[in-house]
Amino acid sequence: MQKVAIIGCGAYMDSGYGCPGEWRCLKAAAMGDGKFGEPSQTVAFIRCECPGRAVVPTVGMAAKLSEIKPDAVYLSSCLVNAKPGCPYTNADELAQIVEAKTGIPVIQGTHDYH
Ligand code: SF4
Repeated sequence: MQKVAIIGCGAYMDSGYGCPGEWRCLKAAAMGDGKFGEPSQTVAFIRCECPGRAVVPTVGMAAKLSEIKPDAVYLSSCLVNAKPGCPYTNADELAQIVEAKTGIPVIQGTHDYH
């Protein structure tokens, strides 16, 4: 079973509407739905905070403190598909930065639930 870390958009989490961070990404990982493709163990859930500078070190710190290096990092669907988009970065750029800094492959998106 692959071990995954998920990055969600904290600004979106603060806006309510039941997600992200409450169940959708976690259910998709557990069930192997959406982009996961197989049941996956979530070993870290990282909340991005504007302007997003801390997100890469937070991924690294989560891996260090938990002593579990994820096999993949997933950017949440709300982060990837946000309209209007993130004013500070975009999913492609964030994925490239996280991948380059951590050496962990990044997948864009998590679930297709509504
Ligand atoms: S920097 Fe972008 S992705 Fe991160 S919390 Fe702010 S709006 Fe969301």
